[in-house]
Amino acid sequence: MSALAGHALALRGLTKRYGAFTAVDDVSLEVAQGQFLTLLGPSGSGKTTILMAVAGFVAPSAGTVLLDGGDITPLPPEKRDFGMVFQGYALFPHMSVADNVAFPLRVRGMSRADRDAKVRAALDLVQLQKFTDRLPRQLSGGQQQRVALARALVFDPKLLLLDEPLSALDKKLRAELQEELKALHRRIGRTFVNVTHDQEEALSLSDTIAILNHGKLVQIGDPNGLYERPRTRFVADFLGKSNFLEGTVRTRMAEGFLLEAGPVQLRVHGAGPAEGTRALLSLRPEKLALLAEGETADNVVEGTIRAWSYLGAGSSLVVATEHLGEIRAVLPAWKSSIDPAEGLRVRLGWAADAAVPVEEDAA
Ligand code: ADP
Ligand code: MG
Repeated sequence: MSALAGHALALRGLTKRYGAFTAVDDVSLEVAQGQFLTLLGPSGSGKTTILMAVAGFVAPSAGTVLLDGGDITPLPPEKRDFGMVFQGYALFPHMSVADNVAFPLRVRGMSRADRDAKVRAALDLVQLQKFTDRLPRQLSGGQQQRVALARALVFDPKLLLLDEPLSALDKKLRAELQEELKALHRRIGRTFVNVTHDQEEALSLSDTIAILNHGKLVQIGDPNGLYERPRTRFVADFLGKSNFLEGTVRTRMAEGFLLEAGPVQLRVHGAGPAEGTRALLSLRPEKLALLAEGETADNVVEGTIRAWSYLGAGSSLVVATEHLGEIRAVLPAWKSSIDPAEGLRVRLGWAADAAVPVEEDAA
């Protein structure tokens, strides 16, 4: 595999309509060369349609696809030289692993000798050197998906497009292949565009995540930035779990504001909506602490444990409060000095910078 740098991809106003239905709605984004972009969104949000438009299998109703700044929208798929991997392995069942991987090279008319070297290199990349003569059905699901990866990479594609490549695998195998995919991306330095509805996969693999809902791009950014500063309720809810606290903005202070929910006043850092307006906060469950007697925090709320579950690495609590509804907290095992039990009165605490204002989604 050559050490060429990856290519840059951009979408400008990409739109796809099926009759009166808009599957992809005016999506613009950029992926720098060598980056790992994930399109993340619920089922039906337009992820596959975007990927197919990038691949050239779906003709946009409006907008353009640019590769290294050049418009490739009219280019047929076979002229784009993009590698693709899908959820189903789509291997040729009657062909050996080596023949499956060699297929794109045969189609391109490459000589046998050149093919063999490239196939070997691609199988090395996915650590399947020992399986060259096997048939797909003699391989596990994870191995089959690695063959599909090798086949997509063997011709030095300009982009690697992946549509939920791991979703058919069980949890443990998926985690393994995620790490391999990440290592592979780092090794070959190509631009990857991955589609998933799995938020953990998106967080662990991506340089950039584009979050989609109803065909629209709702937020794009690096995993940490999106997780810490979701712009809307949908993003906060889809990328990780979140509590939502509602109230009215009261006193604005230099470093933030007070949010009033009935008699409760919450201290919030950061810019927020104007004084007197309603505001919605996203508060991640792991940012809450169960306060011991005498312990305090910027914000303290009392409540009753409604439910708790042991998670191994910690526990998850649902605490019913009088003015803020139910609040979910995830506590690391080593930090809780209190044994949680249903019905127990507890105090939850969190820092002023733990909750972030988010917008309500447009209906
Ligand atoms: P995702 O991959 O995020 O699950 P898709 O891109 O496959 O979503 O589909 C987005 C929406 O477009 C869905 O509502 C789907 O039913 C619709 N859609 C996709 N392809 C077609 C088509 N060929 N004809 C009509 N509607 C389609
Ligand atoms: Mg899809």
